[in-house]
Amino acid sequence: MRTADVVIVGASLSAAAAAKRLVDAGLETVILERLELPRHKICSGILSPRGHRFLLENFGPLPREALHEPTSCRGVTFHFPSMVSMSMDFFGGTTPHLHRKFSDHWAIKQSGAEVHDRTSFAGLEDNGDHVLVKARRLGQDVVYKARTVIGADGPSSLVIRAIYPDYPKQIPWFFVGQKFHDIVECPLDPQYFHFWFHPGLGHYTWSHARDGRQIVGVGFKRGDNFDARHRNVVQYLREKHGVQLSEHTSHEGCAENFGPSLINRYVFGKGNVLITGQASGFLNMIGEGMSCTLHSGALAGEAVVEARLRARPVQEVYRRMVASEVRRTTDQWNPLKIAFGRPHEADFPEALMRLSWRERALVLRDLWRFVLLYKEFKWGRQIALAAAQRLAAPGYPGARWL
Ligand SMILES: Cc1cc2nc3c(=O)[nH]c(=O)nc-3n(C[C@H](O)[C@H](O)[C@H](O)COP(=O)(O)OP(=O)(O)OC[C@H]3O[C@@H](n4cnc5c(N)ncnc54)[C@H](O)[C@@H]3O)c2cc1C
Repeated sequence: MRTADVVIVGASLSAAAAAKRLVDAGLETVILERLELPRHKICSGILSPRGHRFLLENFGPLPREALHEPTSCRGVTFHFPSMVSMSMDFFGGTTPHLHRKFSDHWAIKQSGAEVHDRTSFAGLEDNGDHVLVKARRLGQDVVYKARTVIGADGPSSLVIRAIYPDYPKQIPWFFVGQKFHDIVECPLDPQYFHFWFHPGLGHYTWSHARDGRQIVGVGFKRGDNFDARHRNVVQYLREKHGVQLSEHTSHEGCAENFGPSLINRYVFGKGNVLITGQASGFLNMIGEGMSCTLHSGALAGEAVVEARLRARPVQEVYRRMVASEVRRTTDQWNPLKIAFGRPHEADFPEALMRLSWRERALVLRDLWRFVLLYKEFKWGRQIALAAAQRLAAPGYPGARWL
């Protein structure tokens, strides 16, 4: 049996951030990753300015191999059914376009933690003064013993299932899929991430350039047909935006726990097991997850260090510390904050004010119609309730934490 101060499950950005804090404090930290590293991660790789600052401050400048082409992104362009488009630059300039396979591996290595890849978490037993972690490595059972375990294993977290078996039934699930196309002609500016607020296209529709190809992505509730949804978007892009693409050459998709932040429901763990990153529900609007994943991971690491120094229960310390990140994420979904504050890292109010009065009215009407799309969704009531709570008292009222 291998012993360590902390075992982290998953070798992604939240894990790297947590591990950095732990290793810097002198704690022996082992990261378990089910895939062989460097591993593929489905992601657009558009890093927000806050995520960029975190990487620079904690891990240093990114190596070239950690970037896709185009190597940077200027911001986001929103498109509406009324054919109004709004481009918003990120505050503080462009940000890197991450190649997650290599950026994550680089951050993990920079953290200084010991990494066991091809090692799948299978279960755990919290015995109060230590946790036993059961894993499978190359077909063999392996056991780890640690004071604390951090579940940083992403949206379909098995660590959560080990402590709250019913949790997956308590949140909305989406499917996101993207296809890669060779470009015949594409008038969409490659310097921006493009997003459509269009009820006829789906809950989440995006496109951007990567390594000479164009990605077309769709997000929808589980059970819908990926190919049909995607075909519809490709046809729309051709007819409305003059985008001409060849038949796709590859595709990928996954289940996403989009929604915990939308319905104010987070999961931070139990006893000596902490949950962090997207597993715990952190995901900003339009699917930007890296900044909150990095920050929540760092908070999990800091909480372990702080709990030891002050001889406090780690769960209590983590929940107190992570509240600021919950507030930040939840504010992103607060219409009042969006209208009068700057919860996002690109200036929506400023881009809106650049439009004519007529265009502004069209955008607001289109946004409202888009929001109504969620009515037909099983979780529509919870989403509406969470939105009302945010309007009544900005911040994170009604946030329910497991
Ligand atoms: C299509 C798509 C596009 C996206 N685009 C963006 C974007 O442009 N910008 C942005 O900021 N965010 C984006 N996101 C979100 C972003 O990818 C996630 O929010 C972020 O990667 C979450 O990081 P994490 O560390 O919490 O977990 P993850 O990145 O999900 O990593 C979890 C890790 O745990 C490992 N793991 C899982 N189960 C086990 C197990 N049983 N045992 C051991 N290891 C395990 C996985 O292999 C993985 O390495 C996108 C997501 C998707 C799906």
